[in-house]
Amino acid sequence: MSFRRDFSELKEIGVDPAGGWSRQAFSAADIAAHEWLLAKGRDAGLSARYDFFGNVILRLEGEGRAVLIGSHLDTVQNGGAFDGAIGVLAGLEVARRLKAENSPGLPVEVIAFRDEEGRFGPFTGSRAMAGLHDEQTLAKARGADGVLLADVMAAAGFAPANAPREWDDVAAWLELHIEQGPVLEAAGIGLGIVTSIAGQERLSLRFTGRADHAGTAPMDLRRDAFAGAARFAVEFRELIRSSTDPALRGTIGVIKLLPNQGNVVPEQVTLGLEIRSTHAETLSFMRERIEETAKKLALDEGLELRIRRLYSDGPVPMAPALQKVLADAAADLGHQAMFLPSGANHDTGIIGRIVPAAMLFVPSVDGRSHCPEEQTELEQIENAIDVLHRAVATLRSSHPPGLERAEVQ
Ligand SMILES: [Zn+2]
Repeated sequence: MSFRRDFSELKEIGVDPAGGWSRQAFSAADIAAHEWLLAKGRDAGLSARYDFFGNVILRLEGEGRAVLIGSHLDTVQNGGAFDGAIGVLAGLEVARRLKAENSPGLPVEVIAFRDEEGRFGPFTGSRAMAGLHDEQTLAKARGADGVLLADVMAAAGFAPANAPREWDDVAAWLELHIEQGPVLEAAGIGLGIVTSIAGQERLSLRFTGRADHAGTAPMDLRRDAFAGAARFAVEFRELIRSSTDPALRGTIGVIKLLPNQGNVVPEQVTLGLEIRSTHAETLSFMRERIEETAKKLALDEGLELRIRRLYSDGPVPMAPALQKVLADAAADLGHQAMFLPSGANHDTGIIGRIVPAAMLFVPSVDGRSHCPEEQTELEQIENAIDVLHRAVATLRSSHPPGLERAEVQ
């Protein structure tokens, strides 16, 4: 089993004494992992190179537009061994098998995108290949540790710039990834076919009242920013829970309170929240309800309210024709599969806006991810690789009609 050997070799790179794996983008471990992949590609008889951004591209030559398979090798700090890595290794294994079979067909490329985990910004590597970066911003990008992207890239022989490829030469993009959630495990099903990647809205709400002495200010005369924010938090959760959209998620993950002292009535509270769904209508509808709710409560509590829309990105539906190719491949091989949305974003969320794309999920034990405990049964990954291999073989030999990008909202 070549995948098992590859996986055990890759797991040697970036082991963190503090637990799990730390291969943050352009760290020594991350650079070593990409060098390892390049050598593996060459060993497999594939052409192997970096693009300007340092994304790895392994290519099996063929006739026509290429089928791309890939994911990422970087991890969060003290992350798991499976996130991203298995998708790249699946691509390597599929390309290796196709090479050995020596059958004619579309070219196949295996891609490892740099910095999927966003040390220097969201999806830095796939966005570079998509040509989406503002290069002046990119040149100034720093990690949370203050490290300048331009410095670490220069040391590795790359530059913080777009590295756009010719997308007209691409027929399809496929990514195998761990689910990072509990759905497949709970259903007892080993394979998930992703229908859509959730879009999201991020808002910042700032409630401003008045700082007063906590011992003397009468309760009915206060303008307590926290009281307003707390009432909002409760109503926010009710709004999300009462939605008829089962894909909707809502989280208040940030709170800043001023002056944050035990004997002072809070003057200002800023909440950072996000909502996600695979339905664009839900996102815009809910954003309006959220803003209305915040305004109503601010008025009621005598607070001023400032709302900032920090980020907005629509859902990315997966190409129906590719979902079918994957479902057929699973059925042909006797593996049970279910369709499910992805609440987490992936490189596919970037690439799927440009070319037809699809994703395969394998179960995450206990739904855990981004931690050393991240786990998936190796046999389930091998089954998924078999399905991916069959699907890519189908695509290579009979470029199916109707292979068009789903409408991005
Ligand atoms: Zn990932």
